Amino acid sequence: MHQKDGTTVALDPSRPNGCDYAFVSHAHLDHLHRKGNSTSKLIASKETSMIASARGYEMQGNEYDGFELVDTGHILGSRGLLTGEDVYYTGDLSTRERAFLKPARMPKAKTLIIESTFGKAGYSFPATDEITHNVNRIISDMYDMGIPVVLMGYALGKAQLLTKMFGHWDPVFVHDSVAKMNNVYSDLGVDLKDAVTYTEAEQKGLLSKRRPWIMIAPLMSGRSSFVQDMKVKYGAITIGFSGWAVDSQYPYRMGLDYAFPMSDHCDYSELIEAVRRCAPDKVYTFHGFAGEFAGSLKKMGFDAEPIEKRNGRAMSLDSFS
Ligand SMILES: [Zn+2]
Ligand SMILES: [Zn+2]
Repeated sequence: MHQKDGTTVALDPSRPNGCDYAFVSHAHLDHLHRKGNSTSKLIASKETSMIASARGYEMQGNEYDGFELVDTGHILGSRGLLTGEDVYYTGDLSTRERAFLKPARMPKAKTLIIESTFGKAGYSFPATDEITHNVNRIISDMYDMGIPVVLMGYALGKAQLLTKMFGHWDPVFVHDSVAKMNNVYSDLGVDLKDAVTYTEAEQKGLLSKRRPWIMIAPLMSGRSSFVQDMKVKYGAITIGFSGWAVDSQYPYRMGLDYAFPMSDHCDYSELIEAVRRCAPDKVYTFHGFAGEFAGSLKKMGFDAEPIEKRNGRAMSLDSFS
């Protein structure tokens, strides 16, 4: 992105590209890059720097004059970038309160660059309370029958919400990759149940068929060796959490017993509402249904267009110069 003052800003670049600034919105891998010997000034929240470092991306982000970091409610530390020239880039966005995550704040801006992962009519997520209620009921039924339950969601972001939302069950185990991210969240002040890892539980023989338990694991196919192990050895059932679970075929495709559309992104109507609150003159869409979402916005009277993909990422740096 070229600013009028002549400085350049790369938004979630996939590699260093010589811009004056590089902004990293959050620590999901499709938004991180290896800094190498780049001299770009790195803009990122403290949380994003810490989580990224724990994932092996050595980085030290800062805040700079002329840029405001705005909470986007997607995962811990996720921020959008509001420039002094009235451009707002959302990164990934959720305007819904979930456990310890506050809803995103939408600032006013002339130009809005907004993610559109679920930017298609039909992608509508039920209330989080309703999902929690239904999942607790399934777990309760399974506990009555002595059946363990594996809850699955993205290791960074979703798994910490699952740990918070279902941590009152006992015992709770966590897959080692989830434990690693839970520890970073705890270090950053999020109060999460300190659960025994899968490896430790296996070694100590804590996983048994006789007494039900919960395991929080990354989202993976029901055909993966880990899930097969859980099923064959312990008779566990699986529940997946993803916005894509809106599609009724999703559990079959993933080989899951149950799936719930709990997402760290806005659903379609939340995206529209986010655009309205920003009240921009121009909207650019990226990620997922970028073309469809821009089309819908146009019908509502917004000047909107999708951003071309480049190098597998949505950002084309000169699209909104
Ligand atoms: Zn993300
Ligand atoms: Zn993303």
